[in-house]
Amino acid sequence: MSEKTDIASLTAGELRERFAAMGEPGFRADQVYRWLHVQRVMDFAEMTNISKDLREKLDDEFVIFSCAIEKKLVSCYDGTVKYLFRLKDGEFVETVVMRYKYGLSVCVSSQVGCSMGCAFCASAIGGCVRSLRASEILWQVYAAGLDLGERISHVVMMGMGEPLVNYGSAVRFIELITGPVGQNIGARNISLSTCGIVPKIYELAALESGITLSISLHAPNDEIRSRLMPVNNRWNIEELLKAVRFYIRKTGRRVSFEYTMIRGVNDSEECASQLAQRLRGMLCHVNLIPVNSVRETGMRAAQDAQIRQFIAVLERAGVNTTVRRTLGADINASCGQLRKANQEKSNSKEG
Ligand code: SAH
Repeated sequence: MSEKTDIASLTAGELRERFAAMGEPGFRADQVYRWLHVQRVMDFAEMTNISKDLREKLDDEFVIFSCAIEKKLVSCYDGTVKYLFRLKDGEFVETVVMRYKYGLSVCVSSQVGCSMGCAFCASAIGGCVRSLRASEILWQVYAAGLDLGERISHVVMMGMGEPLVNYGSAVRFIELITGPVGQNIGARNISLSTCGIVPKIYELAALESGITLSISLHAPNDEIRSRLMPVNNRWNIEELLKAVRFYIRKTGRRVSFEYTMIRGVNDSEECASQLAQRLRGMLCHVNLIPVNSVRETGMRAAQDAQIRQFIAVLERAGVNTTVRRTLGADINASCGQLRKANQEKSNSKEG
């Protein structure tokens, strides 16, 4: 039996083509597209203006990869909401909704787990189980929006997984979520964060999609970065920054560098000077993040005084710097922590 097609990953144009091949008119395809991306139904049976015959045909040929809420935590500090979603195959992903003055921003996962092995990150611990389909990334936004009953206006692709390892789905997700029918989020309200898959940064630049690129840098030199991030052994800082400069030239967009401050590892004044040296004059912005300690990694957040000194050095060099506000501190809002805790719970039940 041939596999059913993942219908919610198809663009409106592709759905029309599939319908044409089935002998169905274009307007029917558009109706179904609206059911999927405006009404966000999880079942063909709910598409009430579609004939029963066609609904059955759709059920035979297609599948809707929606997700269900397994767990939901709401921060009592700042209203951050963290979801653990269950996918159709029983895997779990985490999604976080943050409340900002400008609206709701959702942080989506692009993979179940992650294969990049960053030393400070909880998602890396069990490796990567699989990449998500575009529709499974999309459904995290839909399910959170449906549950909250509010419009989500911003998306950050900064959850579990490395989006540029799952490049095809990531780009398709961006195409679908920015499309005129459905969530219709402007490309400017979308950020994609990568640990530095260099060839894909060039590809993304060529798309000129208008999204914001975030680079997880976390170190000012290759010695420290390779220790923290194995990907640096494949593409070093120089190659990464060359790709970033190309991205900036091609898109005219300011790039954001994520730098997680780890006590005694990358938080010295010398580190700040080296970083300033490398980024000086670039159209960029540095986001310092006190590392979220994950039990297994043994890493602790840099102290406030150290962070202040770090900022001062960068700003003196004219490098725009901010410290990321910690949201959802009471609900383990950083990625990978909830899925891991859930796994541990079910392991201890089995054991
Ligand atoms: N793989 C992508 C996106 C997912 S990680 C990337 O590497 O960018 C999202 C961000 O959270 C990255 O900047 C990542 O380095 C950071 N991060 C991961 N674990 C963290 C931790 N324990 N504390 C602070 N930031 C962390």
